[in-house]
Order: sequence, then C-alpha cells, then structure tokens
Amino acid sequence: MSDIIHLLPDSVANQIAAGEVVQRPASVVKELVENALDAHATEITIAIIDAGRTSIQISDNGVGMSETDARMAFERHATSKISEASDIFKIRSMGFRGEALASIAAVSQTELRTRQKDAELGTKIIIAGSKVESQEADACQQGTTFTVKNLFYNTPARRKFLKSNQTEFNYILAEIYQTALANPEVTFTIIKDGSLYAKYPKGNHLQRIVNIFGKQMEKGLIPIEDESSIVKIYGYIGVPEMARKTGANQFFFVNNRFFRQKSFLGSVMRAYGNLLPQKEYPPFFIFMEIDPAEIDVNIHPTKTEIKFSEEFNICQLLEATIKCTLGKNNIVPSIDFSDSADYSDMFSFKKSDPIQPPTITYNPSYNPFKTQDSGCYPNTKTNERNWEKLFEDYQTNKKENQQLLEFSSNLNSDSETNQPTVEFCTQIQKKYILAFVDGKIYIIDIKRAHYRLLYDKFHDNFCHERVPSQKTLIPVRIDLTANETESLKTILPQLQELGFDIEEFGKNSFVVNGVPSDIDITDTQQIICDFISNFEEANQTIKDSVQEHIARTLAKSASLFRNPTMNKDEMAQFVTQVIQNKSFTITPEGQIVTIIIEPEDLLKKFN
Ligand code: ADP
Ligand code: MG
Repeated sequence: MSDIIHLLPDSVANQIAAGEVVQRPASVVKELVENALDAHATEITIAIIDAGRTSIQISDNGVGMSETDARMAFERHATSKISEASDIFKIRSMGFRGEALASIAAVSQTELRTRQKDAELGTKIIIAGSKVESQEADACQQGTTFTVKNLFYNTPARRKFLKSNQTEFNYILAEIYQTALANPEVTFTIIKDGSLYAKYPKGNHLQRIVNIFGKQMEKGLIPIEDESSIVKIYGYIGVPEMARKTGANQFFFVNNRFFRQKSFLGSVMRAYGNLLPQKEYPPFFIFMEIDPAEIDVNIHPTKTEIKFSEEFNICQLLEATIKCTLGKNNIVPSIDFSDSADYSDMFSFKKSDPIQPPTITYNPSYNPFKTQDSGCYPNTKTNERNWEKLFEDYQTNKKENQQLLEFSSNLNSDSETNQPTVEFCTQIQKKYILAFVDGKIYIIDIKRAHYRLLYDKFHDNFCHERVPSQKTLIPVRIDLTANETESLKTILPQLQELGFDIEEFGKNSFVVNGVPSDIDITDTQQIICDFISNFEEANQTIKDSVQEHIARTLAKSASLFRNPTMNKDEMAQFVTQVIQNKSFTITPEGQIVTIIIEPEDLLKKFN
C-alpha cells in the first residue's frame, strides 16, 4: 500500500491557522494595532470600510521594516519578539507568536508598505491567499501601513458568518477601546467609510477614558491606587450610581494588555458589596503592573485570558484597595447599627452650626413621638477630619437642593390640601430621610423618591399631551462621543416631542435651544448623555409603551446624581412632597422608596 501522509502546503496550513487568529474583522484590527504598538508607534490611524468587509487599513509611524523583514513577516512563526521558549516569560510586547500576519495574508488580499527611519526607500508587498503577488521598492512614509482587503474572500463560508455591519463595527470599536485605553500616550484616529469617526489625542488615562466614553463618565469615577511587592494597582472605579444592568464598561489591564478574569471581577463585586442593586455592574478601568515572569499570557491565541501566579493574593489586594477607596470617598454600604463604625456622617451638618469639641451629649427628656421642633439633632459626635468634607458636600449639594426645592414648590402649588405635618426629620448617611409625620415614622430613600416624583410628573405630562418647553436665553452646546452622536440622532424626534429643542451643530456637537420645564438647562449635557445610555439599556430589557419608556428613562436621567445634604426646611418640604405624591412607596420598577412604621408596630416589637 502506498503512503498516504503528506505535509500540507503552507497556504492551506496558514488558512487553517487563520481560523484561530482571525475570527472577524475586529481580530485583524487588534493584531495590526498591536503590531503598530510593538513597533513603538505614537500615532495610529485605523480606516475601516464596510465594517472591515471591504477594507481595513492600519497606518503607524513606528520603526518600519527592512525589505527582508517585510517579506519574512508573513511567514508563519516569524517574529522579532522572542527567540527561545523561556522568552515567553519576559514578554513586554503585545505579540510574540509570529502567526498574525501569516494568518491575515492567508484569508485576504493584503498590501504592506513600510519604511525604516534611515532608509531612503521602503518596500511594498502585495500578497493574496498567502501568495506573494508583487514586491517592489516604494517611496512611502516612515512607518508601516497594512491594507487588508476583502477579508475571507477565499473562505466564503466564513465570510457568510459575519454579522451585520453595525455589529462587526462594534466589535472593532471594542478592540480599539481596549488598546486605546491601555495606551493613552498614543494618538488614535478612526476613519469610518471615508470620514473621520473619532480621534483620541495623546493624554493621560483619565483623558483617554473621557475621550472615549464622554464627559459624564468622568464625574462618576474615583481614582484607585495601591502598590505592593506583588503588584501595582491603579486606575478608576465608578461610583455606585454609575452601575448598569448591561453594557457596563469594565476593563482590566496588566502591563498595558487588556484581559478578562472572573476571579478579579468577583473581587471588585465583593468590594462594592451591597452598595450596588442586584445584577448591576459598576464601570471600572483597573491597570496592574507586575513582573512579566509572574504572568503567563500564553493561554489562548486571542490572548484575553492570562494566568497569574499570585492570583489569590491579587484578588485580596484588589478587594481591599477598592473597599478602602469607596470608604475614603464616603461611599459606604447601607447602615449596619450593630458594629461600632463612626456615624459622624449620619446627621446633616449645617454651615451655621457651631463647631463643638467632640463630646457625647444626650437629652433625657427627648421623645421622638412628641410634637416638637427638634429638627436635626445637634451634631453630637463629630470627627474633626470630616468637618471640611461635610462643608464641601454642603456647598456642592446646595445647587441640587435648590433644584429640589423649586421642583417641590412647583408641585406643591397644585396640591395644597391635606398638608402632612412633618414633626421631626433627619438625614441618615445623606441617603435616607427619617421623618415623623402625622403619627408615623417614614424612612425615605432620597434618590428613589426623587425619581418617583419625576416619573409621575413626566407621566402626567404625557397624559396632558403637550410637554411644556422652556427656551433658553443662550443656547447650550453639547459635545458627544461618536457613539453617543449616532444614538442621539435616532432618538432626536422623540426628544423633540418631549420638549427638547436640539439641533445638530457640526460633527459630534449639538445645540440645545430649549428643554422641558422640569429640567435644569445647565445639566443638559449630562442628562442627555445619561438619557442616551439609559434609553439604550432599557430598550433591551423593557418592552413598555414608548411614553412609559421615555418617562422612566428621562426621570432616571434627570433625578439626583449624588446624595444631597439637606437642611431641615429642605428635608421637611421634600418629605411633604413625597408623601403627597400619589405613589411613594415603590419606584416604577418596584424598588422600595419609603418604609412606613406605625407606632403600633413599634409597640409590637417591644412586647
Ligand atoms: P508577532 O507580532 O507575534 O511577532 P506578527 O505576525 O504579528 O507576529 O508580525 C510578525 C513580525 O512582523 C513582527 O514580529 C514584527 O517584527 C513585524 N511587524 C509586524 N507589523 C509591524 C509594524 N507595524 N511595524 C514594524 N514591524 C512590524
Ligand atoms: Mg503581532
């Protein structure tokens, strides 16, 4: 019998290998951008046509390649980044397998133009389905440009499996975000179907995050930092209000490489604990620096999973760092009266309050059920370090309180009847109001209550057809990211029906000439950005009538962003407002807004 085993031709072997490396246009973008970074580029331009089906072009100003290297680069296992197996444990470069270019060239028509700094002429190579079609000298710019055309042209089954252009482009953006976030010192330009889609100029990590995800993200981020002998951790985490049910922006990087890790995600979620509603996820951008010998990036060809030899210890450090950061920023879990924590923040602090040395005082005749003008109890257990912070909070919250007051008084005017009597009220951790009203104890979640009020107001507005719009004296310009711009354009007609008067104003900018009367024009940028992301999220999960949907998302976007500190009058007015609202016990989604305790319930408890 004759022998039947033979070696596969390179082109076939490469095509098979390409199945691992090149799954979709986004994989090509990822590999080529990583190569550009490894070539020390400081400017990278990514031009995409038809979501990468027709063409993907990546240009860089990196070191370029010699004529021989340019030809060699397309060979399988050809790399300049490692020479022996042990090098895998010292890796600082993004690539090292030497597979990407061979794989890409096997399933596309690829053109490479490259020139090294001191070379007079560069090289141009055209290669299709692994076959070199031409190679010639080329007067190109310093650096490298790859143009990958007609991806999967010779593997029609794979081309057929590509998703819609929108989906494939989103995959590409996700890849770009990962690399752009890890490399803020590099300028990225994205060109989509011939026109500029986005440009991220070089800057620091925070500037890059804001460039990509918009200004509203910045307000909800707090920095984290921790350095130990095992790992250096730094970056930004979102305040609980930024948490989302879907599509939270969560990024881990180690040595400038994006990765996913379930155990680290678990640590982050444990650190937030019950600060987050169920199934909501905070955004985070967490960077780690670690000795490359302590990680193994050689797990998966697409390299988003990484093995850490100190995984357990890093989990502990991560959890501790985040917990500590949340604590330092006064973002603390809901009150637990059983431990001996410092509750100095529990009582609201008024600018006019005299500052007293820390003493414990008590009023033996105090009875919360007796009508009295006790209002906020004096700040009896105060911690000197917190005075300044409380005062700052008071100042920053003043504007929001003003809005709340105006809002309350607007509504109050139509329903003066049956005014409840607020006999006593105080704030707990700025989050809740504890009030004694008409013989009952109320504990009100401030933000949820504000959301409920706005929701009912918007809902009523819909029932009365026209939504009043307030024209602004000076139009407000808002700048959005490319993604937000696309989303806003699709929901612009609905917003106009609601009383928003918004016009396009150049690329990624809009001018707001009017807003519904319940919205503060100065917050328009943030409200619109939040509205876009909430609206999109809600789209996937709620199938309500359009009006219901808009009332919810708009109320959510316009409701208080941070927990306010209120003075006694503000609190009393707010409590009255909440209790007079037709529904104040739950949010439209069924979350508890108000807990009511009747005195009889207390009697039962003491029996
Ligand atoms: P790897 O990145 O794993 O080494 P690739 O197939 O992606 O493998 O690239 C092969 C080689 O081609 C690289 O090691 C590098 O020397 C060279 N190369 C690829 N892209 C560029 C670029 N943009 N600039 C300079 N050299 C490059
Ligand atoms: Mg590579």
